[in-house]
Amino acid sequence: MNCPVCGKKLIQTEKALRCSGWKEGCEFTVWNTIAGHVLTEQEKGDLIKGEIIGEIRDFRSKAGKPFSARLKLDEEGKAVFVFPDQADLEDGMKCPVCGKAIRRNRKVWCCTDRECGFVIFDSLAGHLFTEEEKRALVEGTQIGPINDFVSRAGKQFTAFVKIGDNGKTRFVFPEEDTDEDETEHGGINHAVKDDE
Ligand SMILES: [Zn+2]
Ligand SMILES: [Zn+2]
Repeated sequence: MNCPVCGKKLIQTEKALRCSGWKEGCEFTVWNTIAGHVLTEQEKGDLIKGEIIGEIRDFRSKAGKPFSARLKLDEEGKAVFVFPDQADLEDGMKCPVCGKAIRRNRKVWCCTDRECGFVIFDSLAGHLFTEEEKRALVEGTQIGPINDFVSRAGKQFTAFVKIGDNGKTRFVFPEEDTDEDETEHGGINHAVKDDE
């Protein structure tokens, strides 16, 4: 196997797989043990090929706390943990508007393309979306009825939610509910405008 940084041969020492070019300043090293997990030959090989390995479930933090993560080599050839937020980019969920990858964290799910506009905030009108609800929205499903929405006037209301053409969440009201005008509650866009 050759060093992914400088191309020289890698040598297996007692503690690590190192670049034989270390005298010339190449610091590429893959430690045999990372955070308590002993890397297999296969895992080291995959890392060097540039793959993200794992999920590895027997890591331990310095404080001794067990944790799971995937592992990859960064641009400098250092092993770094990949936690779910980052890994989400690779799990195949596609933006319902443009089809690009989506970015997810606790506060917001949005398109990796900033021009696109697709966004789901973690809560809407007082309702906290569950993971399943957000996934369904991404898949283009209308979700609901959700009955714990609260309007800015403090009135509780029931509505369905879907992703509109502009990539934003929008309410869809049950047909029999005539005193609620859909456009008045047309999602985050309108709420923001109204507040200005
Ligand atoms: Zn090297
Ligand atoms: Zn998009």
